Parts: sequence; structure tokens; C-alpha cells
Amino acid sequence: MTKISERTCIICRKKHTKDELFRIVEKGDKYTFDEKMKSQKRGTYICRSQECVNRLSKHKKIKVEIDDLLKMLSLLKKDTKDYLKVLKAMKNSQELVFGVNMIFDEIEKIHFMIIAEDISEKNDNKLIRKANENNIHYIHYGSKIQLGEIFDKEEVNVIAIKNKRVARGLIG
Ligand SMILES: [Zn+2]
Repeated sequence: MTKISERTCIICRKKHTKDELFRIVEKGDKYTFDEKMKSQKRGTYICRSQECVNRLSKHKKIKVEIDDLLKMLSLLKKDTKDYLKVLKAMKNSQELVFGVNMIFDEIEKIHFMIIAEDISEKNDNKLIRKANENNIHYIHYGSKIQLGEIFDKEEVNVIAIKNKRVARGLIG
């Protein structure tokens, strides 16, 4: 018999499997979002729901960085599928760059990255390392084909946003 491990949401106290939860880990006197659930530190869990994330943002003891909260909310938003529409609407605005090489060339101008969920592990690691080095936020969203459609390309691994205000609008 397979044992399905469940965790309790720190906010609503309901039990869920891990794929229904966000994980955060302690970092100093704050908490940081462990998006890939790979941190060795002891995790605290929150439902992947707007309500629990909103309540988390007001929590007196568990302080999570605002950017991390926004990232969680943006991951929830992706269920509504409007992310691709937003990117599509922006495609001619000169604020978007796509492709690993082009992003590396303009890395100092980049504020947010949307990485395809089916990107190769090698490219994924490369991008995440670069993002962390440069303090750039990122999410994994959509497939290479879906991201490609925005630019009439067959496949796109990653899209980046150069404009800070636009990036904020997209994650906020
Ligand atoms: Zn909850």
C-alpha cells in the first residue's frame, strides 16, 4: 500500500497532499518561499489558495517577504490562464525578451522571468543560477510551445520582462 504523505496548512489547519500546498522555510527571522520544495530546512506549508496566502500575508509570527507572497499569488493566478494573454498583449512593447541567450545578453535589464515548465534541466539550472545571482524573480509557467506561440515561434524556453513596473504588474 502506498502511503500518501499529507501536511497541515499552517493557516487553516486542513490536511493536504504536498501538490496542493506551498512550502516556506525559515531564513533568519523571516520565511522564504521554497518553490521547488527542495530546501533541506524544515518546511512550513500553506494551501495553494488565495485565501490562505492572503491570510499568511497578515500573519503576526510568520513573516514572508512580499516578493515571495506575490510569487505564490502569481502561481495561483496561472490557473486562470490569463498569464499568456497578458504576455501576448505585451509582445510588441519592447519590454519582453525571449530565449536563454538573449536573456543572458540583457540580464542587467531584466526584472522577471517566465520559464517554461518543460524546459531542459540544464537550461533551467542555468537560468535559475543567473536569476539568483542577479536577484531576478521567476516562475515556471506554461509549456515551451505555449510560450513560443506568443512570438510565432515553435518553442520558447523562457520569456523575460525588462520593465520593472510591468514586471510588478504581472506578478502583483
Ligand atoms: Zn489553508
